[in-house]
Amino acid sequence: MAAKRSVGTLTETDLKEKKVFLRADLNVPLDDNQKITDDNRIRASVPTIKFLMEKGAKVILASHLGRPKGVTPKYSLKPLVPRLTELLGAQVVMANDCIGEEVEKLAASLPNGGVLLLENVRFYKEEEKNDPEFAKKLASVADLYVNDAFGTAHRAHASTEGVTKYLKPAVAGFLMQKLIRVLTAVGIGLSCGAVANPKKPFAAIVGGSKVSTKIGVIESLLAKVDILILGGGMIFTFYKAQGYAVGKSLVEEDKLELAISLIQKAKSKGIVPASSIPDGWMGLDIGPDSIKSFSQTLDTTKTVIWNGPMGVFEFEKFAAGTDAIAKKLAELTAKGVTTIIGGGDSVAAVEKAGLADKMSHISTGGGASLELLEGKTLPGVMALDDA
Ligand code: ADP
Ligand code: MG
Repeated sequence: MAAKRSVGTLTETDLKEKKVFLRADLNVPLDDNQKITDDNRIRASVPTIKFLMEKGAKVILASHLGRPKGVTPKYSLKPLVPRLTELLGAQVVMANDCIGEEVEKLAASLPNGGVLLLENVRFYKEEEKNDPEFAKKLASVADLYVNDAFGTAHRAHASTEGVTKYLKPAVAGFLMQKLIRVLTAVGIGLSCGAVANPKKPFAAIVGGSKVSTKIGVIESLLAKVDILILGGGMIFTFYKAQGYAVGKSLVEEDKLELAISLIQKAKSKGIVPASSIPDGWMGLDIGPDSIKSFSQTLDTTKTVIWNGPMGVFEFEKFAAGTDAIAKKLAELTAKGVTTIIGGGDSVAAVEKAGLADKMSHISTGGGASLELLEGKTLPGVMALDDA
């Protein structure tokens, strides 16, 4: 895999008095009163920001928040200023826009070590379109570029890819670097995108609601893993395809044939204990037998990737399967197994179980790690300078 240059290679000479465009992932959840309900992403961004501040750079911080359609006040980054200021120990200046005259003025008046937070880059549709003119405007206020937003690295947007055409060096932030390293450690190369050399036995656990959203992941993993464990809502499409009764459970009728072909491919690998489900009942979690057989199987592994909860974990009643797998993985991690959790809901489930810090790696960039597993490249990473 092509290693990428890290921000850590930049010295005070490179950074002092320089304006750095730092693309971070500050996409934190806000409640109806614009209060931050989980500041994980802000805290995760701090090491790179602080490093740049300490080296005397002028930090121009950009991020998206939510999926706004045009300028949408409830997706403003303004509510983040107090928390950022507190964590950085320096007053963060906020702009009302991410491009334009005001931004230019504020950027020009930043002291060395100062931080300017730009308004949500997705207030412009040009961001997601990776519009070159917009990227140029974003880049125009800065001298160099740091990308620490792994979560959006699978998208070629103006602030993640476009700006690299105008700013050099373009390097990876510490968080981005760490995620690249973890994924490489289990053999997920960046250029080939495939899981190449994980420690064996290598298991993948795939769950979640629909098989249609995980086809790429399953197919790519099937070629790599020793053990593939399926759970979550998608399992019923497989059950039905095998002729089991599934009651009212979630089934994607148009994916039955695909399920058959995946089962054929998996054959010796798939562990899918199936019982018939009574009419009118809906499968909402894996049962005790599955928990037991999954756990026994996982005991034999050295590397485990998990994406997709085992049940509708949002309800306490149906969280038992997901919790049990999370607990099992935490236990295995303590014994030296490499465990990687990817996917928004999967990470939320592990956090809810209070086990997030017990795993080898939790990917906040759910989408990005999944696309890596599917063998896609990450434009936001590829665009950075090689190490
Ligand atoms: P991730 O975000 O980790 O990639 P997904 O988005 O694919 O995971 O799936 C998460 C969703 O799957 C959760 O909202 C959960 O309630 C749902 N789910 C899990 N098991 C079932 C089931 N048996 N029936 C319906 N939905 C399910
Ligand atoms: Mg999800």
